[in-house]
Amino acid sequence: METLYHSTRSSDEVVTSKQAILAGIARDGGLYVCDQLGATKLDLATVAGQDYHAIARDVLGTLLSDYTADEIAGCVAGAYGSNFDTPQITPLTPISADWLLELYHGPTCAFKDVALQMLPRLMSVAREGDGRNIMIVTATSGDTGKAALEGFADVPGTGVTVFYPDGKVSDIQHLQMATQHGANVAVAGIRGTFDDAQTQVKNIFADKTVAARLAEANCVLSSANSINVGRLVPQVTYYLDAYAQLVRRGAVTLGDEVDFCVPTGNFGDVLAGYYAKLLGLPVGRLIVASNTNKVLTDFIQTGTYDRRREFAKTISPSMDILVSSNLERLLYYLTDGDCERVAGWMGQLATEGVYTLPTDVMDRLRETFACGYATDAETSATIRNAWESEQVLIDPHTAVGKCVLDRFEADGRQRVCLSTANPYKFSADVLAALGTDTAGMDGFACMDALQQLTGVAAPAQLSGLRTAPVLHPDVCDQAQMSDFVEAACARVFS
Ligand SMILES: *Cc1c(COP(=O)(O)O)cnc(C)c1O
Repeated sequence: METLYHSTRSSDEVVTSKQAILAGIARDGGLYVCDQLGATKLDLATVAGQDYHAIARDVLGTLLSDYTADEIAGCVAGAYGSNFDTPQITPLTPISADWLLELYHGPTCAFKDVALQMLPRLMSVAREGDGRNIMIVTATSGDTGKAALEGFADVPGTGVTVFYPDGKVSDIQHLQMATQHGANVAVAGIRGTFDDAQTQVKNIFADKTVAARLAEANCVLSSANSINVGRLVPQVTYYLDAYAQLVRRGAVTLGDEVDFCVPTGNFGDVLAGYYAKLLGLPVGRLIVASNTNKVLTDFIQTGTYDRRREFAKTISPSMDILVSSNLERLLYYLTDGDCERVAGWMGQLATEGVYTLPTDVMDRLRETFACGYATDAETSATIRNAWESEQVLIDPHTAVGKCVLDRFEADGRQRVCLSTANPYKFSADVLAALGTDTAGMDGFACMDALQQLTGVAAPAQLSGLRTAPVLHPDVCDQAQMSDFVEAACARVFS
């Protein structure tokens, strides 16, 4: 069946999945959705017998139907190979009576690799149709930038430019970006905050004279934002693969429901679980776990989404988000594709910062979604408890999920907590949670101390940074960012 995409806010403009992936966001500001989602179910018995690659090929083939089988197979083989440090890609390991789904075995040690190793390959194939070169431009508060750099490095027809706030990312995060290899990458610190960088990137995207100059050089700017269909769809694979692993371990028999608990920020990861359910996976509950920025917890409990609140900086920074963009897609599916109502709510969110859903829609949402949140103190206590009682070392994002999951009854179902980052990515906070005073210690000192304390090896991707040469020393003013992007395009695509 052919999959076509249109905006969550109107069905006027219909595009193929390749076009949706190249565009990223729809022209009216909505997110691309596909009405065929759920029409074709994957056969569970087949899934249970497949490895990660085979499941990924079936998921992508089903949801991105204008890619040929050969194109999909090439993308899957390239995205999930020796760049992951285990052939299982996303292994399942026990914790308490539950399971951890380890999503952090990619090149940057966080779950965004699963999607960002795939998206550039999907874009590279999609652009063959028009031949234009694509320069990805991203502002990052630390993690996404590195995952985008690793994903796009040396992918034909693409380049990637990343801006981070100089002096405001951790020393490890800084080195991860500043040591990046690849002939098509550009990295610069900017004098200012993450918000300054983000604002300036949006200005560059909106600048018609920049676009015109780049068009002459056969180049177009794009973003690798988590609302891109090409980032969402690859995440569906690991829900199905987790189920296949549970079947093979004898923990479930075909058809048994499984609960998933997901540390959530922009709602992309947990939404992929809902897509898996629509594709036929027996999902019981999807538990949305938040940190102190608990907009989603309040929303699922009350039906009112209210972003008008203080933004909190927590020890799970990748979940410090007040507007969870991908929620818009869930609203579309819960209203059976009522673009007008979705557009209305998103309009209210933009102008007033708040909207309220009717009870029938909320009832439907709560049939699948549950919620909860953890404070920093609860998150640290969970890290300590998991280590002391089970010798399992988890990162703060995973700990938010584990803390929330532990408040629910299993009701006879197997339960999977998504583990979104390697604990060494957040060595200082993990070490502090285990009771060490980290005052005055830099990132590498914390890494060493954590290794000594736990005996768990730090991943080579992180420990190797100590001796890696810095290739990108640039720091620029906000006013220079636009020139920096144009210079990168000239260098990469000449
Ligand atoms: C991005 C991120 C999340 C949140 O995922 P969303 O898809 O934005 O909900 C959780 N944990 C880590 C480590 C992340 O990098």
